[in-house]
Amino acid sequence: MLENIVEFFRNLPEKICVKCGEKIEEQSECYTNTCDKCSTH
Ligand SMILES: [Zn+2]
Repeated sequence: MLENIVEFFRNLPEKICVKCGEKIEEQSECYTNTCDKCSTH
């Protein structure tokens, strides 16, 4: 069961920052569409 969940997340498309287009690094609690640089203010 757990392996299926892992596979599910591995198959997700990479997140891309909507502001600068950079790939967003994996973040456990990240639901934003922007990278670290763009999400900081
Ligand atoms: Zn960005």
